[in-house]
Amino acid sequence: MENNHVTVLEIDSESIYFNLNYFKSKLHSKTKILVVIKAFGYGTSAVEIAKLLEPKVDYFGVAYLDEGMALRNAGIKTPILVLHPQKATIEKILKHHLEPNIYSINLLNAFIEKATQLKLQNYPIHIKFNTGLNRLGFVEKDIPLISSIINKQKALKITSLFSHIAASEDLNEREFTLHQINRFKAVSTELINQLPNNPFRHMLNTSGIINYAKEAQFDMVRLGIGLFGFGNNNTETAKLKNVITLKSVISQIHIINKGETVGYNRAFKANSTIKTATIPIGHADGISRQFGNGKGFVYINNKKAPIVGNVCMDMIMVNITDINCAEGDEVLVYKNQFHIEELAKSINTISYEILTAISQRVNRTVN
Ligand SMILES: *Cc1c(COP(=O)(O)O)cnc(C)c1O
Repeated sequence: MENNHVTVLEIDSESIYFNLNYFKSKLHSKTKILVVIKAFGYGTSAVEIAKLLEPKVDYFGVAYLDEGMALRNAGIKTPILVLHPQKATIEKILKHHLEPNIYSINLLNAFIEKATQLKLQNYPIHIKFNTGLNRLGFVEKDIPLISSIINKQKALKITSLFSHIAASEDLNEREFTLHQINRFKAVSTELINQLPNNPFRHMLNTSGIINYAKEAQFDMVRLGIGLFGFGNNNTETAKLKNVITLKSVISQIHIINKGETVGYNRAFKANSTIKTATIPIGHADGISRQFGNGKGFVYINNKKAPIVGNVCMDMIMVNITDINCAEGDEVLVYKNQFHIEELAKSINTISYEILTAISQRVNRTVN
């Protein structure tokens, strides 16, 4: 779809390479890298990110079939792990050569049936173990059944075994995390001992790489938000480069006299004369309505301009009383990672939600 919306999400490719190398520097040279680009690449552009990184990484990861299909349709050839396949999507997963996470006996049997019907051999699948997140995955008692099913057929081959940490960013949960790592070591070893081949193993997401590279690096890591400059704590984030800048422009400036109100429901009432700027971005673009009434702020000419009144669907009004600016001037809706972290905190959420909320109406450009 053509996109002429003046509100643009700029993606800095040099910063992406820098961040990838930063995480690589924490890992052994042989450790494989899977880059997770689910949810449109954390709200950026999955296809563009995949094109930039295809020569530099071993795997891509997505949550759902459609996200994997979009990459294949754009010509991406790198192996793609689909983290959350369902029975209804099996045939298309196989036809697009996407590699499923198998998390239940039910799903395993269904994949075998379809792969056998399509006369596939040694089709790569990945087995997920639940070690404490209690979201998706097998547990230890499933192992004999997994191996007996797998060893009776030739359509599927287990390429990797993996698990996911519940609180990799939280060092107060270190004991629990080490327990998860030990569980994974035990169950993965037990299954490998019953298989004809030797699948590789992986467990770490971004904060896992930062905090547990020594204990749980295994053969591959799954890097997501870190690529975009977020280390899940200020010290780590400061070592990364900013990738995402959300830019817009001032459409119109208004003088609001004492007693006048701004926006829907007259939520803001002026106690003195102020100046506002109207910006073409609203809750339909991903600016949560919770940012209304001064919680959220943008930067204009390097100064903070708080949101005045309610966030509209397509616009916000911001206070520019003390800012020297004109209609047409640039607005930094999200200036950098620190700005996004601060905004996220102010409405009790996390950077992940702020990024993935940026809607498809917003233009994306890669610099
Ligand atoms: C989203 C996801 C990741 C990436 O997590 P980040 O914290 O963004 O690095 C890794 N593994 C799984 C299973 C995921 O769902």
